[in-house]
Amino acid sequence: MPDQCTVFAQVGPMLRKRSTVDVVSFASVTPSLLMILSLTAAAGAFSGCSKAPMSAMSKTGNAPAAFAPAQSPGEVAPLIRSDYKKGELTALCKVAIDSSRARLDALANLAAEAQNFDTTLLAFETATADLSDAVTPLTFMGYVSPNADTNSEGSDCEQSVNQFMVDINTRKDIYDVLKDQKPRNDSEKRLISELLKGFEANGLKLSADKLAQMKNLKTQLASLESQFSTNLNNDASRVEFSANELVGLPADYLGGLKKSTDGSKLIVTTRESDSGVFLNNATLSETRRKWLAAYYDRQGQANTLLLEKAIGLRQQIAQVMGYSNWADYRIKGRMATDGATALKFLNSLKDKLASRDRDDIAKLLKFKQELDPAATKVEAWDINYLSYQLKKRDFSLDEEKIREYFPADVVIAGMFDVYSQLLGVHYTEVQNAAVWSPDVKLYKIEDNKDGKLIGYFYTDFIPRQAKYGHAAAFPLIAGRAVAGPVGAYSQPVASIVANLTPPSNGKPSLLSHDDVVTIFHEFGHIMHQTLTKAPYASISGSAVAQDFVEAPSQMLENWPWDAEILNKLSGHYLNHGKKLPKELLDKLIAARDFNQGYYYSRQLMLATLDMTYHTASGPVDSAVVYNILYKEMIGVDPIPGTHFSASFGHLMGGYDAGYYGYLWSEVYAADMFTKFSAAGLLSPEVGGEYRRIILESGNSRDAIDLLRDFLGREPNSDAFLKKLHL
Ligand SMILES: [Zn+2]
Repeated sequence: MPDQCTVFAQVGPMLRKRSTVDVVSFASVTPSLLMILSLTAAAGAFSGCSKAPMSAMSKTGNAPAAFAPAQSPGEVAPLIRSDYKKGELTALCKVAIDSSRARLDALANLAAEAQNFDTTLLAFETATADLSDAVTPLTFMGYVSPNADTNSEGSDCEQSVNQFMVDINTRKDIYDVLKDQKPRNDSEKRLISELLKGFEANGLKLSADKLAQMKNLKTQLASLESQFSTNLNNDASRVEFSANELVGLPADYLGGLKKSTDGSKLIVTTRESDSGVFLNNATLSETRRKWLAAYYDRQGQANTLLLEKAIGLRQQIAQVMGYSNWADYRIKGRMATDGATALKFLNSLKDKLASRDRDDIAKLLKFKQELDPAATKVEAWDINYLSYQLKKRDFSLDEEKIREYFPADVVIAGMFDVYSQLLGVHYTEVQNAAVWSPDVKLYKIEDNKDGKLIGYFYTDFIPRQAKYGHAAAFPLIAGRAVAGPVGAYSQPVASIVANLTPPSNGKPSLLSHDDVVTIFHEFGHIMHQTLTKAPYASISGSAVAQDFVEAPSQMLENWPWDAEILNKLSGHYLNHGKKLPKELLDKLIAARDFNQGYYYSRQLMLATLDMTYHTASGPVDSAVVYNILYKEMIGVDPIPGTHFSASFGHLMGGYDAGYYGYLWSEVYAADMFTKFSAAGLLSPEVGGEYRRIILESGNSRDAIDLLRDFLGREPNSDAFLKKLHL
C-alpha cells in the first residue's frame, strides 16, 4: 500500500497535524486510497478555528527571514532556508508572531473614521498572509530537516503558531472591525465572506456568555482529541506467538521479531506497519484472529471513553452554535452543505455497493473452501489473507518484476512530461539550489506560451531519519497578488514529500506501481498549489472545501493506469528504452478491479459510522454502532469484544463528520475525468481548461460552480457509479 497522502494547508490553527492512523489502508488489499489527513482551508469550521487566512495586495514585507523572494525574474536566491543556527529558527518564529500580533492589535484599535475595506479586511488578510509566508517555511522544517535542533524548533514553532492563530480567530475585537465592511468587487466579496465564515464558525456571532461557554467546550474537546492520539502513539499492545503459530510469514519478517523473556515465544506488535505483512501471510486462521482482535482493541477502554465523551461535547457545541447536530455544524460551507445531504449521499450507494461486496465475499469464501473444504463462512480476520492470496494466484502479479520498470528518475521525468503537455507549463531544475538534504531538488515552473515564471516546487523523495513518514504536498509560500506593477503576483512555492525505496545493491530507487500512483496524485496537489491565480492567499491554491480538495488528485490517479501513459512512465532500470511489457501491463490493469466491492463497502461503512456518531443527539455506544454497521454493510461478523473506533484516528484527528469526503470527492473526480477520457489523456485543450477553471481559481468561487464551468453541465455521479460497476 502506498502511504496516505496529505495535503497540508498553510499555517493555521490545527493545521499540519502530525498524521493520524490510516485505518483505511490497513485492511485494504486493493489499490490505494490516497488520503488527505489535514485540514485544508475552507474547512472554516475546523475544530474551533478558522484557517489562517493569507494575504492581500502586499509585499512579503515583514517576512524575509525564512523566505528569500526571487532576486530578479528567472533566478532565485535560496527560496526556503534550512541552514539555521541553534536557536535561530525559534527567534525568527517569535519575531514573525510578535510582528503579526502588533499589526493585528493596531487594526483592532483603529479609530472608527479610519476604518474601510483596505485598512481592515485587506490589512487583516495581508498581515496573516505575511505571517504564513514567514512561518510556514519554518514549521516545514519540523517535517523534513535532518538537523535535530532545526527539526524540533520547527515543530515547536508550529505549536506556537497554531496557538497564536486560535487566539486570533477567536478575537471579538478583530471580528467587530471586519464584519461590516463593504466589498467593492467580486473578489473582495468572496474574501470577506470566507473570512467571516471562519470567525463565525468559532462562535463570534454568539453572545458573550455563550461564546465563553463554547470556548470552554472546545478546550475540553481539544484535550480529549490530543489524549486520544497520544494514547495511540504510545500504544504498546503486542501478541506473543510460538514459532509454529507463525507459519506462512516471510523469513526476514520473522527474523526481525523480538523474543519473549523466557525465549519461548515471538513478539508481534500491533503497530500499523505490522498489519499488512501479518494479515496477508499468516497461514493459520487462529493466529490471524488473535492478532486482529488485539489490533482492533488498541486502547479499547481508554479511547472509547474519550471518543464517546468527545461525541457528547460535540453535540453540546453544535447546540450552542445553533445547529441540530455536529455534522451540520462541521459541514456548513463545504460542498455537501449539511449532515443530511452527506448521509443521503452515503445511503444512495448502500444497496448498490452491498451487492458488489457480497460478490467479493462469496469469491473469498469459494477460495477459502478450496483451502479448507469444511469452511462455511468468511471471518473478519480472513479477508486480508484470502484477498491477498487469491489476487496472487489469479493475477500472478510479480511486484518486484514490475518495480524494475519504474526507476524513480524515469517515472519522475515521464510524469513531468505528462503534466507539462497537459497543463501547458514546463519544469526546470534550479541548479545549486540551497536545500535541506542533498537529494532534495528545486524546480521552477514556467508557462509554455510566454515563458513566464509561475512558481517553484521542491521534490523530497528519499526516506531519512526524522522525516515525515508519508506522502504529502506542502504549500510553503502562497500565491497572491502583491503591490507593484499591475498584475504583480507572489510566486507560490510548494514541496512534494514522499518516501520512495532508496537506491540499494547497485539498483536505483525502484517504484512499485502504487508508488507511481501516489506521486502522480501528490503532484496533482502541487499543481493546484502552484498554478493558482487567486488574488488572496486565503483563497488561493488548494485552500478549497475539505470535501473537494482531493478531487483533482483523485482524478489524476487515472493517468498511471493508461497504457500510453504507462509507456511514458516506464523504462527498465538497465535499459530505459525497454518499456513495461504488455503482458505485465495487462495483468496490472486486470487486477485493478479486484475486490473493489469490498473495498468501497468498507469505505462506505467507515463514512456511515462517522456520520452516525455525529448526527446522533444523545449518548452513543460506539462499539454497538460499529458492530451493527459492519455486519450489515460488509456481511461478515465483527470480532466480539473489540473496540474498532478506539483506534479510528480520523474521528479524533480532524476528520470527524468528514470521512464521507473521500467518497464524495471521488464522484467529482470521476466526472471531471470523463472530459479527459473523451478528448485524450494528453489533450492540451481540456488540460488548459482544467488549469484555468479548476487550478487557477483555487477557492475564488464555490467548487460546484467551478465544476459546472469545467464540465459545461451539472455534475453527476454517473461516471463514479460506472467506475464501480454499479
Ligand atoms: Zn491527496
